[in-house]
Amino acid sequence: MHLDQQTIAVVMMVFFCSTLVIAAGLVFALRASEAGRLWASGHVLASGAGLALALSAATGTLHLGTPGAGAFVIGWLLIYRGVRVYYGVPAYPGALAGAATIVLAILVAVGGLPGGPQLVLRVVYGVLALLSLATFATLARAGRGRRSIGAPLVLVASLVQLATQLAGFNHAMRPAGADAAPMILFFAGPAGSAWMLAPLIATLLGLFGFTVMAMEQIVAHNESGARVDALTGLLNRGALEMSALQLVARWQRDGLPLSCLVIDIDYFKQVNDTFGHHAGDAVLREVAHALDNSRRASDVAGRYGGEEFCILCPHTDEQQATALANRILRKVRAIALPGAQGFASVSIGVAQLRGGQGSKEGLWRALFADADRALYHAKEHGRDRYVLASSMAAPVPGHATAMLEPVADSVA
Ligand code: GH3
Ligand code: MG
Ligand code: MG
Repeated sequence: MHLDQQTIAVVMMVFFCSTLVIAAGLVFALRASEAGRLWASGHVLASGAGLALALSAATGTLHLGTPGAGAFVIGWLLIYRGVRVYYGVPAYPGALAGAATIVLAILVAVGGLPGGPQLVLRVVYGVLALLSLATFATLARAGRGRRSIGAPLVLVASLVQLATQLAGFNHAMRPAGADAAPMILFFAGPAGSAWMLAPLIATLLGLFGFTVMAMEQIVAHNESGARVDALTGLLNRGALEMSALQLVARWQRDGLPLSCLVIDIDYFKQVNDTFGHHAGDAVLREVAHALDNSRRASDVAGRYGGEEFCILCPHTDEQQATALANRILRKVRAIALPGAQGFASVSIGVAQLRGGQGSKEGLWRALFADADRALYHAKEHGRDRYVLASSMAAPVPGHATAMLEPVADSVA
């Protein structure tokens, strides 16, 4: 298949006009993802440069020009930076900006020399080939083992871009002569029409792949945001209950103990009433932090509501859970209340999942109710302590209470 230069120029104009509009829309649509913004902005610049290239071919000037070449380089640098940001590897924005400045200075310098257009093409194709290679290497290394639909598309796209840029570089290195016309659209020559499809397919694949990757990131971020309590950073009630049901199902399978702590801040209303809700929120965050720092990695901590928290401890019996309860009591007692009003304290109910058959939901409700009842007893008996649910169910004579921790520095 051999297409004449005009046909190729028109096809490219239509193509890059379309990708320019799509990429401009994506800058807005993907704004929630930093990598998405970088990729979309990079494609806006690269599509703009592609359009300039097509226009120059259509008007017969065949001069990409330094601005077009610069737009290509900056566009692909942004795309490369987006890949590094996406995978959380150092993006070196200062070094990349420095590299862009040097390349632009070289383009300006060689553009004014005799044979400038060809020199500009050599620099551009060389730099773009290097960038595609770096993008490919980063994607291949960082993306290994991760499940993503977009990443393999982008990997293929950067490989195809690399091949076309190397072919373009090879063409631009030929001595300038009578065949200067196909210099820019090197693929317009009799042997090269098939090449025309390569950069177009790669651009479409890349644009689609990057968009999917950014969308995957935004969806994952939203999903984790929907699970987390905004004030404390712990799991919210819905997520905690989902984890609880999974842990109960595991308990039904393996029979290993599962314990639950229900924790309520003492006299918290007084903090709000005296110092305002903002001060109350700060205390809530500190207590949540203390809980999070007291638990083991396998424990699940969440804010159940208001100033009430819950920690689920797999593979832990009630007695073992008292160690966690003691750690929490100690850490919370170190939290100073606003206005030098003493220190915070919490009351804790501790229960272990018992019982026979039943639905996951029923077992979870029973476990929480046991711990909540024990919490109520801890409040009743002076606060700043924990109570074991088992000690209430079957009180041992002479050992009527399991409130092991003494009252200390509680509010009011
Ligand atoms: P007790 O020792 O019996 O638990 O007393 P308390 O004052 O902690 O209990 P009460 O249930 O009367 O008060 C809980 C307070 O928690 C009331 C409510 O205003 C406050 N609260 C609930 N959620 C939030 C929140 O997100 N931020 C703030 N600042 N306060 C909250
Ligand atoms: Mg309270
Ligand atoms: Mg409460």
